[in-house]
Amino acid sequence: MPKMVGGCLCGQVRYSCDAEPFAQAVCHCANCQRQAAAPFSVVLGVPEASVEITGTLKTYEDKGDSGAVVYRRFCPECGSPILSQPAAMAGIVFLKAGTLDDTSWLDPKVHVWAKSKQAWTVLPEGVMAFDTVPGA
Ligand SMILES: [Zn+2]
Ligand SMILES: [Zn+2]
Repeated sequence: MPKMVGGCLCGQVRYSCDAEPFAQAVCHCANCQRQAAAPFSVVLGVPEASVEITGTLKTYEDKGDSGAVVYRRFCPECGSPILSQPAAMAGIVFLKAGTLDDTSWLDPKVHVWAKSKQAWTVLPEGVMAFDTVPGA
């Protein structure tokens, strides 16, 4: 895996991360679909301390289905989502993998919130799918 480097569409926000993600997941939750304007969001779980960000992020305080707060951080200039940060998971952030410069190595094997996936979205063979999230 190359060192993770990425940024928003306009280039105002850039980030790098020197950790190996502990999770590569596809999130089909309704809020990710809306924020990404896409059928799902691909996220990489990493320690917050491993991420270095330049530029200015704006934060939207979202609430998931469970009522738990999720901070969604995005570029205020071009609107690209950069990361989300569940308030309940201190020290953890989920980078939005679609903002990576190099996505060639991605291989997400976990699908969460599969119960709200779009009807035409077919999950690949051999992945783990959860109606909501693991442990729920
Ligand atoms: Zn931007
Ligand atoms: Zn989601």
